[in-house]
Amino acid sequence: MSRTVYVNGKYVAEENAQVSVFDRGFLFADGVYEVTAVVGGKLVDFQGHVVRLERSLGELGMGMPLTGEELLGIHRELLSRNNVDEGLVYIQITRGVADRDFAFPENVPQSVVLFTQNKSLTSEKPGLRVISVPDIRWGRRDIKTVQLLAPSMAKMMAKKAGKDDAWMVEDGYVTEGTSNNAYIVTKEGAIITRNLSTSILHGITRAAVLKLAAELEMKIEERPFTITEAQEAKEAFVTAATAFVCPVVEIDGVELSGGIAGPIVKRLNELYIEESRKSSI
Ligand code: PLP
Repeated sequence: MSRTVYVNGKYVAEENAQVSVFDRGFLFADGVYEVTAVVGGKLVDFQGHVVRLERSLGELGMGMPLTGEELLGIHRELLSRNNVDEGLVYIQITRGVADRDFAFPENVPQSVVLFTQNKSLTSEKPGLRVISVPDIRWGRRDIKTVQLLAPSMAKMMAKKAGKDDAWMVEDGYVTEGTSNNAYIVTKEGAIITRNLSTSILHGITRAAVLKLAAELEMKIEERPFTITEAQEAKEAFVTAATAFVCPVVEIDGVELSGGIAGPIVKRLNELYIEESRKSSI
């Protein structure tokens, strides 16, 4: 059955949804997006995604075309129309439609598109096997833009190598996964993840999971780490709205935690699922 999607104020069947070929999202990747997880038909960390969306738009000199309340209403309407119990809502906002020119157009209505995807998020996940690849992305990875070709190529390199995902490396240190934040757990039980900067996306799941880890009184070190340090770690994992807390069991051919999810990753994932069920709206 066809999904209902949202395009510029209208709910339409996906096969009838249309965006102009002159849309700057299509021609220049001049747009930003968010992906919000859905558990039990409700939105997880919705407020965090709205705040980051507004920030991404602001960093590119764009405003929010809709209020947070309006966005919430559209998200909920799509969940209801598409009967989504567990999955994702994708929203993309671009600078709009204008004749092709590198200069930004003025006074053009922004394009707003939303759709849902069904996906299991709370079931047990097999551990990911990752390879390291050079991080060739631009310098403002804190802005969640739709220019995703570099991470998409990195993901394909992993697939071609028979693995699941790639961790991107810059100046000898891991930045993040292709679509997730990367973590290791040291032999002493400390969680290491790269500090926030323009080098990585400020994950909404990252913030929630680090809060849970802090509540468990786990030691957290926000700093860069190398692939070698990761290969020597006790456990490794990634976080994202699309993956929750997902174990990483192999890094560049070196197996971690016996090839299965370690106890800390398991615990954090369970807690995050529990918290998501409680706080989703
Ligand atoms: N890092 C990158 C590059 C991503 O693309 C994503 C999610 O799409 C994340 C991290 C995780 O962010 P979040 O937890 O907000 O989904």
